Amino acid sequence: MSPPAAGRHVPSEPMSQDQTMRAMVLEQTRHPLVLRERPVPGPGPGQVQLKIAACAVCRTDLHVVDGELPDPKLPLIIGHEIVGHVTRLGDGARRLSMGQRVGVPWLGWTDGVCSFCKAGNENLCANARFTGYTMDGGYAEFTVADERFCVPFPEMYSDVEASPLLCAGLIGYRSLVMAGDGERLGLYGFGAAAHIITQVAVHQGRSVYAFTRPGDGQAQQFARKVGAVWAGGSDQRPPEELDAAIIFAPVGALVPAALAAVRKGGRVVCGGIHMSDIPSFPYKLLWGERSLCSVANLTRRDAQEFMRIAPEVPVRTSTETFRLEQANEALEQLRSGKLQGAGVLVMGDSVARAQA
Ligand SMILES: [Zn+2]
Ligand SMILES: [Zn+2]
Repeated sequence: MSPPAAGRHVPSEPMSQDQTMRAMVLEQTRHPLVLRERPVPGPGPGQVQLKIAACAVCRTDLHVVDGELPDPKLPLIIGHEIVGHVTRLGDGARRLSMGQRVGVPWLGWTDGVCSFCKAGNENLCANARFTGYTMDGGYAEFTVADERFCVPFPEMYSDVEASPLLCAGLIGYRSLVMAGDGERLGLYGFGAAAHIITQVAVHQGRSVYAFTRPGDGQAQQFARKVGAVWAGGSDQRPPEELDAAIIFAPVGALVPAALAAVRKGGRVVCGGIHMSDIPSFPYKLLWGERSLCSVANLTRRDAQEFMRIAPEVPVRTSTETFRLEQANEALEQLRSGKLQGAGVLVMGDSVARAQA
């Protein structure tokens, strides 16, 4: 199939109303995405239109596709790690300029007036809207986004390298802050988020202990390569007691395992949006002032902080690229644990650049 005109459009030209784009659309949960020709969306007031260069693939995308999160918009374009260039400005949009490169993360809109927003916890906003879940996202050639929630990137990152910073990086970073300042940090599930957060934690002088699926020697080798001092299966105990642990894998059985691995007063943070049920466990695992908490979504402040820290480390992201129409394949590779680092969809002519 030959790409439509929209795919070759130069970023600075305004789009006319009748142009179309290619999108991978979720029409029904628990079904594969379908390649569709869609009208290019126009920006509403305060929004910008973006020509998408890359969109990373996140575990949350799988939860949406699998119907594990309630009430997705349907049909839906998933994807919330969008890197794009501004192609149109909606009425009143003044913060960004034509052609500027920005990211669109999971948090797409908040009401700004609820008690959570007023208290600085916009990640918990009662009326929040989420990119690629309750609003269309980035598995497409164009999207629109509220300019206040767009994130500028440090120059040093290519489009492909930048995209996993938007969720794996941001949510990972929020989880790291939530885990406290402990020196010995365990990471359960060594994918996109863990490979980024290991680099930040090592930069902060911490020791990272990586837990993978039992027997996954490749993932353990990858963990050591990006800085973990120890890597093993999630069925193993670390050689030393941990000060804190973050669980990125969506596996409830890891909660008692992580609690058993942390010292008295230690903290276990669940970094994912969905997890299988947590099995019952003896109270003694929590006793000793250990604590257990979750991280939900992100705030714009997290994004500002993380985008300042990432080039200081400097965080390098490990990516595997796919074409837009290979989105189902990318999701399956994520599901089966075959991806090292992050899967990234590249759109239109950025495919040639990413593979050059
Ligand atoms: Zn709110
Ligand atoms: Zn995500």
